Amino acid sequence: MDGMKTSWVDRLFKRQWTSERIAKYIGAYRSCWLAYALDEDIRLNAASGGTITGLLAHLLETGEIDGALVCTSQVVGNEVQAGYRIATTREELLAAQGSKYMETHFSGEAVPLIEAFQGKLALTLLPCDTWTVNRMRQNRPEIDAKIRLTIALFCGHISDPGLTRLVVRKAKPAGVSLTSFRNRIGHWRGKLRFGFEDGSTKEKPFSAFSDYQNLYFFCARKCLRCHDHTGYDCDLSVGDVWLMAMKDNPIKHNAVIARSARAEADLQSALAAGKLNLQPVPVELVADAQARSLPMHYNVTARAQAGKLWGVKVSDPVNERVRLVDYLVAAVILFNYRWTSTPKGRVMVGRLPRLLIKLYLYALKALEVL
Ligand SMILES: Cc1cc2nc3c(=O)[nH]c(=O)nc-3n(C[C@H](O)[C@H](O)[C@H](O)COP(=O)(O)OP(=O)(O)OC[C@H]3O[C@@H](n4cnc5c(N)ncnc54)[C@H](O)[C@@H]3O)c2cc1C
Ligand code: SF4
Repeated sequence: MDGMKTSWVDRLFKRQWTSERIAKYIGAYRSCWLAYALDEDIRLNAASGGTITGLLAHLLETGEIDGALVCTSQVVGNEVQAGYRIATTREELLAAQGSKYMETHFSGEAVPLIEAFQGKLALTLLPCDTWTVNRMRQNRPEIDAKIRLTIALFCGHISDPGLTRLVVRKAKPAGVSLTSFRNRIGHWRGKLRFGFEDGSTKEKPFSAFSDYQNLYFFCARKCLRCHDHTGYDCDLSVGDVWLMAMKDNPIKHNAVIARSARAEADLQSALAAGKLNLQPVPVELVADAQARSLPMHYNVTARAQAGKLWGVKVSDPVNERVRLVDYLVAAVILFNYRWTSTPKGRVMVGRLPRLLIKLYLYALKALEVL
């Protein structure tokens, strides 16, 4: 990428990406890009570079789509809840920005919206939601006909709402109700922002949430058996760029994988209209930007084997080689998953000092890069 210096940390952790590994971890693709929205208002509350919202706003403006399925969040009685809506205006797209890391009910909530909508649609999906959508498209031509573009977010895993509840409980002053909550505002890993009924706001580093999440505390059960990190079966996959070389870049960028001709045409149209900044990159750079997560996410076999230690049954669709270190990482993940699957475990983990959580996470990360 133009002007991007490689950092010694990135060089240290660089892996060899053979075509076999790329096929396993990334799947089929036509081109890869680093991208961001050129509109600063779109970047302001974006999860990363605002590429998804920038592209969706452009497709709405040009009449290529009539609506976009997005994921929303709201606070009800101090509980943060995630849901869906079909956005038909730029304002609705902006209101739905940011990553929602808590479990949703895609079949029960998003599918009826898609069924009822009259017009051309783009869908923002987690990789597992693309499986549901693609099954539906195969069996129902009327649904297939209205879906114009599918965009999958790269996905490490999603969490049970209990994790957000824990983080809110730690941040909320006594006697004041929570009225708003946003994940990952701002640069690099970003901040959590809480709004309260008295008009006050509070920010905390995103690590107040992600340290628990990256240790797989409160992980949703379905994610244990998932090997699809980037959304093999969509038109466009969009994620973050976790390269130290990007840490000081004032603009967060997205890693983008175009898998269909339609996705490439939409990106080029947004580029020509001055809506997106796009730079072509080799697929290896996208893999480098997810170097720790890709092999670990794919290796369901390690989780299936380690699950036996803790009595958690995980079905294995990949039959991958398991090194000792893969087994150890999976054993920690499965232990932490199991621990916070009980009410007593959740309380105990919530009481652990943050320093201990941080040290535990560093130890797991050290194992993951081996
Ligand atoms: C659960 C989860 C795990 C993720 N894990 C990784 C990871 O491991 N590595 C990585 O590189 N990136 C990951 N991402 C993706 C990343 O956080 C950004 O969402 C992505 O890079 C898009 O950035 P953006 O600036 O273009 O998004 P924005 O412009 O903010 O747009 C994001 C769009 O996605 C929609 N959306 C948000 N959450 C969901 C959801 N749960 N389901 C469906 N649609 C949703 C929003 O409504 C919005 O329309 C994850 C995202 C989620 C939700
Ligand atoms: S890890 Fe897989 S199963 Fe879990 S939310 Fe992400 S895509 Fe879905």
